[in-house]
Amino acid sequence: MSNAMAERLAAIQERIAAACARSGRGPDAVELVAVSKTYPPEDVDSLARLGCRIFGESRVQEAAQKIPACASGLEWHGIGHLQRNKVPLAIALFSRLHGVDSLRLLERLETCAAEAGRSIQVCLEVNVSGEASKYGFAPDAVPAVLDYVPSLRYVQVDGLMTIAPFTADPEDSRRHFCRLRELRDAWVGACGWPLEVLSMGMSHDLAVAIEEGATMVRVGTALFGPRPKPGEDV
Ligand SMILES: *Cc1c(COP(=O)(O)O)cnc(C)c1O
Repeated sequence: MSNAMAERLAAIQERIAAACARSGRGPDAVELVAVSKTYPPEDVDSLARLGCRIFGESRVQEAAQKIPACASGLEWHGIGHLQRNKVPLAIALFSRLHGVDSLRLLERLETCAAEAGRSIQVCLEVNVSGEASKYGFAPDAVPAVLDYVPSLRYVQVDGLMTIAPFTADPEDSRRHFCRLRELRDAWVGACGWPLEVLSMGMSHDLAVAIEEGATMVRVGTALFGPRPKPGEDV
């Protein structure tokens, strides 16, 4: 088991390093978020022993059960759509959220983070493809959200996230990743503070995402093996 895990991790690290090299960046330019949703604590611990430090969960309830059963000292990110009633628990569990997709959620995060005395890092999810099934802000809605960000004290909006529509050929994802980077560059120019994190790329399209500027990739099945049951949103 652990051997297969080590081989899968090595293969991912090679894909990341090769894509970084192709895009003229160092191999450390990209952080790997190991998406452990649906996998047991033993798998997390195996990857932690192999050096993985950041893990992503999409359901708050599942994370609340799993995290205490895993090795300590790991960094946990919430990667899925978050319901507002789960915000206090999400703040207690996660140091970063990748899927923040409404102003009301951002407001609720600020209130609860202030109450908890904890800060949280946030990527705004942007629906660049316009696919109706996807969560995320429409690109047009983001500038108004960015105007609101300086008033936040506990929520640090420092990046953007997107999920490309699944297609057999990862090259089809390129234009969506490229678009998110271009939007980011334009918004940063207008708002004047950096949005350094670009969370984009999953098991099948991480190389293309890195070539287009991803700084975090969220990888599940390519690391852990086939998923025991389908992952659900929070
Ligand atoms: C499940 C999930 C992933 C990982 O998907 P894989 O295809 O298993 O790598 C990445 N991001 C989000 C938001 C997810 O829900």
